[in-house]
Amino acid sequence: MSFKKWREDLVKTLISKGYLSSSKIIRSFRIVPREKFLPVNLKEKAYIDMPLSIGFKQTISAPHMVAIMAEVSDFKNGNKILEIGTGSGYNAAITAEIICQTNDKNLGHVYTLEIIPELFSFAKKNIEKTNYNKKVTVIQQDGSIGYAEEAPYDRIIVTAAAPKAPTVLIEQLKPGGMLLIPVGDHYFFQSLIKIKKNYDGSTVTENLGSVAFVPLTGKNGWKSSSY
Ligand code: SAM
Repeated sequence: MSFKKWREDLVKTLISKGYLSSSKIIRSFRIVPREKFLPVNLKEKAYIDMPLSIGFKQTISAPHMVAIMAEVSDFKNGNKILEIGTGSGYNAAITAEIICQTNDKNLGHVYTLEIIPELFSFAKKNIEKTNYNKKVTVIQQDGSIGYAEEAPYDRIIVTAAAPKAPTVLIEQLKPGGMLLIPVGDHYFFQSLIKIKKNYDGSTVTENLGSVAFVPLTGKNGWKSSSY
């Protein structure tokens, strides 16, 4: 069996279970090679629908979770996206494939922040070797304070669980933009929260259900002594 065949089988499973439905997101899952975002010893497991260790107590999220977050994000071609928690770079590549139909940086771009230096280097290499570097910028920084340099964003996607949604992230959204963030106890009892910013600056919050993510650290995250 080849990675391509395994990838297609996983896409079919994610469609049949209802995790994938939009054609542009399905296309993205068919294109992005998850095996190229994994440590060498885990490549054979790339198309099993589970989170996998990428070292430093961190994980690449399970494909169904990447699919759920992409489907609810309602990405549009040309969006400017901030992802917090680059990890392997896989979710950033999936997102770039959905929102960038050209290599013009002004027509869709993903800025992704990773706090752990070794994972920043790992993700940067993965993004370069899969040729997403024109569509994805990987930055080593505490993402709990966002990235004011490129704000405002159409979407801010957080892939680690925070004690609460940081106000600074809502400030960095465009009017009409959306923040998607797991919130709650680190490791258990987290909810995926969607916060929509209206044109008058007010917000609407929706709870999309239970999830399990590693903790967001940094200024507005969990303190390392608490987990
Ligand atoms: N999106 C990733 C992928 O596609 O592989 C998976 C993300 S993993 C579940 C969560 C990541 O968030 C870890 O790499 C962790 O180091 C990172 N992280 C945690 N707190 C952070 C912070 N304050 N700023 C940036 N990254 C953070």
